[in-house]
Amino acid sequence: MEHASAGSLASLGGETMGTRWSVRLIAPPRADLHALHARIQQALDRVVAQMSTWDDASDICRFRNAPAGTWWKLPEEFARVLECAIEVAGASDGAFDPTLGPLVDLWGFGSTGTPRRVPGADALEQARARSGWTRIQRRDAGRELLQPGGLQLDLSAIAKGFGVDLVAAQLRSLGIRAALVEVGGEIGGFGRKPDGDAWRVLVEATMADAAVPEMPARVLRLDDRAVATSGDRWHRFDQDGRWYAHTIDPRSGVPVEDAAASVTVVATSAMEADAWATALTVMGAAAGLEFARNRGMAARFVAADGTGGLRETMTGAFQSQLAA
Ligand code: ADP
Ligand code: MG
Repeated sequence: MEHASAGSLASLGGETMGTRWSVRLIAPPRADLHALHARIQQALDRVVAQMSTWDDASDICRFRNAPAGTWWKLPEEFARVLECAIEVAGASDGAFDPTLGPLVDLWGFGSTGTPRRVPGADALEQARARSGWTRIQRRDAGRELLQPGGLQLDLSAIAKGFGVDLVAAQLRSLGIRAALVEVGGEIGGFGRKPDGDAWRVLVEATMADAAVPEMPARVLRLDDRAVATSGDRWHRFDQDGRWYAHTIDPRSGVPVEDAAASVTVVATSAMEADAWATALTVMGAAAGLEFARNRGMAARFVAADGTGGLRETMTGAFQSQLAA
C-alpha cells in the first residue's frame, strides 16, 4: 500500500464564479507553485467563460441568444457538464433541471437585475413554458445542442462542483499526488496527506443563526470523494412572511418552500455531489432522505423539526463517510 507522499503542504487560492477557490496540496520538492496557481486559475476561467450566466460573452449566454433552430457546438467541458445535468435531471424525475434560466431570472436570482419579489402569474407561466429539461435536444454524441427557441440553460447548481473536478484532474495531470480542492464550498479530495491519512473536512452545521442551537459539527473523510452542500442563506429573500430561496422547484416554477437549511451530499465527483445536493433540496428533507436511502446515496439533511428547532438526518452511506 502506498503511504506518505513526499512533499510539503502548500495552500493556494483565488477568485472564481463570484466566490473563492482554495487548494491545499502536497507539493513535491521544488514544485513551481506560481505555475500551479496559474493552471488552476486557467481551468476555472475556462468554466466561467463557458458556463457563466453573468458574462454575456460566455457560451451559455450566447446559446441563450442563438436563433431558434440553430445547432450549437458545445465546448468539451460544457458538454460534459450538460451530460451530467441531464443524467441527474432524469434520475431525479426533474427535481434538478438545467433549463431553469428564465425562472431564475424572473425570481431575481439571475444576472438581469430583476428585483427579488414574487412575479405575476402571466410572467411565471411564460417562464415555465420556456423551461423544462425534456426540451433539450443534442446530436453528435452530445457535442451539439439545439436552440429550439427561448431555451436558457442555467448550470450554476453544478458548475462549482465541476470546477472542483476539473482542478483536481488538472493537478493530477501535473503530477500532484494529493490535494484538497474547494470552489465556493464544494470540496474534493484525492490522495493522502503526508501522515498517510485521507483529507478531512468539516461539514458546516448551520450558519450562525441566533434562533436555533448549533448542530453537531461533522467531520468527513474525503478519500477520493467529494462533498457539496446546498442551502446558503444569503441567496434568498422574504415577502409577506415567507422565505424564497434560490433553489426553484421545477414542478411549480416557484422557489422551494420550507427548503432544508442545508443538504450535503458525498459522491465520487464534486459535479454529481453538487447537482444532487440541489435535487435533494427540491425533494425536501423527508422525500429526499428516502430517495437517497433507496439509491444508496450519501446524504445529510438539516431541516426544521416542526417545533422551531432543527433536526439532522442522514443516510447510512453518509454515516459511513464520517471520520471516526
Ligand atoms: P446551493 O449551494 O444552494 O446548491 P448553487 O449555487 O449550487 O446553490 O445552486 C443554486 C443555483 O442553481 C440557483 O441560483 C439557480 O441558478 C440554479 N437552480 C435553481 N433551482 C434549480 C434546480 N431545481 N435545478 C437546477 N438548478 C437550479
Ligand atoms: Mg449546487
